[in-house]
Amino acid sequence: MKLMVVLMCMTAIPVNSLQNIGWIWHVTDFHYDFSYWSDQFSCNNEVTSPGIYGDYWCDSPWLLIKDSIESMKEIRPDVDFLIWTGDNIGHIHDEHLSIDQNMDTFRNITNELKRQFPNIPTYATLGNHDYYPSDQFSPNTSEIYQRIGEMWKDWINDTEQVEQFKNGGFYSVKTKYGLRILGLNTNLYYTSNKVTTNLTDPAGQFAWLDQQLTTAKTNNEKVIITAHIPPGIHTPSNVLWFRSNFNERFLNIIKSHVNDDTIKVAYYGHNHADGFKIVYKTDGTPAFPVFNGPSVTPWRYKIPVATGPPHNPGIRLISYDRTTGQPINILTYYINLPESNANNKTDWKLEYNFTHAYGIDDVTAPSIHKLTERMVKDRSLVDMYYKYKDVSVTNSPACDDNCRNSILCGFSKSKMDEFNSCKDSYTGSANTVLKPAPVIITTSMCLMYFMHMK
Ligand SMILES: [Zn+2]
Ligand SMILES: [Zn+2]
Repeated sequence: MKLMVVLMCMTAIPVNSLQNIGWIWHVTDFHYDFSYWSDQFSCNNEVTSPGIYGDYWCDSPWLLIKDSIESMKEIRPDVDFLIWTGDNIGHIHDEHLSIDQNMDTFRNITNELKRQFPNIPTYATLGNHDYYPSDQFSPNTSEIYQRIGEMWKDWINDTEQVEQFKNGGFYSVKTKYGLRILGLNTNLYYTSNKVTTNLTDPAGQFAWLDQQLTTAKTNNEKVIITAHIPPGIHTPSNVLWFRSNFNERFLNIIKSHVNDDTIKVAYYGHNHADGFKIVYKTDGTPAFPVFNGPSVTPWRYKIPVATGPPHNPGIRLISYDRTTGQPINILTYYINLPESNANNKTDWKLEYNFTHAYGIDDVTAPSIHKLTERMVKDRSLVDMYYKYKDVSVTNSPACDDNCRNSILCGFSKSKMDEFNSCKDSYTGSANTVLKPAPVIITTSMCLMYFMHMK
């Protein structure tokens, strides 16, 4: 009977479609603290007995970074490529850093990835902490772009695109199965970047992105977008990381190509939280999903008005269609940090299987859109999303109504005015239009300040 079921299943799945399914690792926000065992520059509280794999108040010791990369190899070595979305430098003041110091960290992590995944390309992008001075990404070529371009040139594997990277920190490559990867430098649009404040198109990346999407459409290529800082609103803290004019411009470029069915998915980091969004076509139907990977660093922020939630280190494995770039499912792995420290060893476990946990067939935009509709009616699904956001920390505080409404609106509303109107529609209060609760403004402003200022 068992054999019959297996045979029936095998004949039900066309061989071609099995061959077309590949795997991708997405890893982000390592945030190495070289001073973890001495000055603890990144730690937001005094940590008297630091664990060997890290502490919720601090950035990653080297052992955690090395262990996470080794575990990726152990869980699945035969991926088609890796996506690495930046922030490798700790939340450490510039006075303790230098270009050379940052480049050492880059070299060490790059070498570790190359050692564990030989001959497999990593499509890497820069995070706001990776620059020196922190966040101040240049709209022109710079020593940092040049030096990192050299480290990553065999991954980019295209002389012209290596030069492109050296000129602005972004590039375009084609996978061996013909997918177009656009690795963007969205740090140019970050509110904390003072260098680009008065520019309309820093490093010419907007014009370049528009052109890349037009060319991809002409050549019938499918596109995967990857970058560190995501556009839109991070919830439930309700932060827009991009300057609003840059956010608008970015969304408009995406919108002008969204009906083409060219962009299949976008992968981002920076939030230190697991999450997703959906981008819609102009007729309102779902176009493509956006996934935010959880960070490796367990570091939690602490500011006068708020303290960030603790979260466990996470990494994620994505199955996808090699021809269309369409993601099929996402498996997120994690360690329980205190448990790993107590045991003196890590046990990277499956935190959740996306389609099983949420009861959907795949992670296409239409499936996730339907899920968000269910989430409006079913509070337990929002609670599940909230739990995974912080990578299954057991004592995470509950998500209240305000938090729930933010999460629901953040799935589809990426401009602050639309987002606020959406939240008002949930609270049902016409009088509060344009007036989010004052505490939210304070918290999100401070969070924005703190995420880049340490
Ligand atoms: Zn980060
Ligand atoms: Zn960041």
